[in-house]
Formats: sequence, structure tokens, C-alpha cells
Amino acid sequence: MPLVSTRALVLQTFPYSETSKILRLFTWEHGLRSVIAKGALRPRSRFGGVLEPFTEGTAQIYLKEGRELQTLSGFDLLRSRQALGRSLAAFAGASLMAEVAIRTGTEDPQPALYAELAAGWDSIAAAADEAAAEAAVLGGAWRIVSLVGFEPQTDACVVCGRDAAPDKPVRFDAEAGGVACTSCRPVGRLIDPQSRAELRRMIRGLPLNAPLGRPGLHRALLRTFLEMQLAHGKPFRSLELFMTGMEEA
Ligand SMILES: [Zn+2]
Repeated sequence: MPLVSTRALVLQTFPYSETSKILRLFTWEHGLRSVIAKGALRPRSRFGGVLEPFTEGTAQIYLKEGRELQTLSGFDLLRSRQALGRSLAAFAGASLMAEVAIRTGTEDPQPALYAELAAGWDSIAAAADEAAAEAAVLGGAWRIVSLVGFEPQTDACVVCGRDAAPDKPVRFDAEAGGVACTSCRPVGRLIDPQSRAELRRMIRGLPLNAPLGRPGLHRALLRTFLEMQLAHGKPFRSLELFMTGMEEA
């Protein structure tokens, strides 16, 4: 069985038996993989306690194609991103990005998705306060959603196709995948022009020049969109945590 060495992001971890851990890894060369780290929960484990969510390292994996669970042989730490455990919003938001990658990832390499996850986690970790962390989570989540093929349409109405006027509110049609004129969609959540501009900047990965005007609206848009387009009846566990964390902050 070949031993491969690849950069990897730890997306999720679960204890397995008394002494081992199962990890969901997003690897640079082999995409999304589940691995077992035998003995990782023993006090003197060779993994040295670094196998935590959001950690990045070089993973050595005994890889056998077609098998669901691979065996992790070693993990050399590159980055721990411990700052993501600092606040509930940062932890829940980084977990949400991981969950979207788990739902949409494959075993093929997806370097752009890898890079976006790592960069998104870094910007959440670097955020100066809760509001900045929240904006980083929202931006990171929208970019990942877009990268995996679900970019919401924000420039033109999803019903009639006309360009959205820069100074007029639009409504959000999560089911159709984007914004709609108020005449095409008479009911539903209104998005004011500033919030639509912020949403477009986040999707494109452009910096926001000021704090989000209406963060609650942005949370609601992301939640509705994820539930409608990507959940398929299986709720995102970290979505509720993120929503609750921000409402309490
Ligand atoms: Zn329209």
C-alpha cells in the first residue's frame, strides 16, 4: 500500500474507540479523505495532540483507493490556527466552512477550494473583533459556496434577467439562486442596495471598506441560501451554532 505525503487541512475530528481518532481531511493532492489516527488519544501519541480542527500540516497516509477509511501514519504540523477557538462565532464559522467543503468535496484534488479554506480560516483568525470575524466568516462561506458551483446571482434578476438597478432594493430568491426585482417577486426578504453591494464584494473576495451595515440580514441570507441549495434536508450542524453565537455576541 503506497504511503503518500500531502498537505492537509483538518476539517473535523471524532474520537474512535478509547484511543483513536477519525479525521476528515482536505488534502492538497487527494481531495477529501477520512483517515484513522490510531493511538491519537493516548497521552504519548506520536501525533502529539496536534490533530485538532483547522490545523494544517503534512499528512502521511497509507492510501488505498476505493477504501472509505485510510490510515494516517504521521502528521507534521505547519499551522495550528488556535485563534479560531477564541470565540464561538469564529469556531462556528470556521466549522461551517469546513462543513460546506465536506458536503461538496470529492476525492479529486481541488487546489482552489483548499486555498480558499485556508485563507478563509486565516482571515477569521486574524479578525480584530467579533464584527470583523463575522464578516470574514460570511465572506469565506460565500466564496466556498461559489467555488463549488453555487454562486448566487447578484447582478441580474433570476426571474426576468434584467440588471438590478444600483439604487433600488431587490428581493432574495434562495430557491432560484439569487436576487429578483421586487415586481418579479412581490414577497420575501428585501435586500437594500448597500447590502447587495456588500454581498457582491464578499462573493468576489474583495475587501469590505467598512463594517457590514446589516450583519443580521447577511446571516439570514447565507442561512436561507445554504438550507435551500446545499442542505438537501440534512441541516448544517455549525450553521445554528454560528447564528446563535452571533446573536448573543
Ligand atoms: Zn425581474
